[in-house]
Amino acid sequence: MTVSPSGASMTKIAEPNPAFTKMVEKGGPGGETLMLCYQCGTCTASCPSGRLTAFRTRQIIRKAQLGLKDEILPSDDLWLCTTCYSCVERCPREVEITDILFILRNMAVREGHMAEQHKKIGENMLKHGATVPVKEEVMKLRVKMGLPENPPTTVGNKKAMEDFRKIMEECGFDKLMKGGKK
Ligand code: SF4
Ligand code: SF4
Repeated sequence: MTVSPSGASMTKIAEPNPAFTKMVEKGGPGGETLMLCYQCGTCTASCPSGRLTAFRTRQIIRKAQLGLKDEILPSDDLWLCTTCYSCVERCPREVEITDILFILRNMAVREGHMAEQHKKIGENMLKHGATVPVKEEVMKLRVKMGLPENPPTTVGNKKAMEDFRKIMEECGFDKLMKGGKK
């Protein structure tokens, strides 16, 4: 909020940032389609998440076109997309909306913003080698059925788990998890 010369309060309008727009366009596959959007709103109407939340797909794409970095990256909205691709299937301009959201999320994480639930999933990956760890009661049930405690995936394979952790370290995923915050 700013104050006009007459003393009346005014809402500060964010300035477009073309440099950020370019970063999104070049940020990964699909980014190059950002400026094809002509704001028809079909994506918002198709979005299952938007039916239950205040998330508006069209709006976030518009903000990306304008380069409104500070409105996008710290926003909780960015994490409300379920990546169902309904919007992409219906977009008349073939904008790769979901991929653009991935680009924006990657940018957000690098700046230390991540929804708590997504962070937990990442931490599970690092700790257990799976997004959903095997519960103790499931382990007991498996043993009762004559199976090993863990399934024959990364979770149940010590060497695979070590290799997986190495890959996560090499690509810096572990550091991203430490830096991520809501
Ligand atoms: S459906 Fe496509 S063109 Fe229409 S607002 Fe969404 S991204 Fe833009
Ligand atoms: S991919 Fe994301 S933004 Fe697109 S319709 Fe599905 S939930 Fe909504």
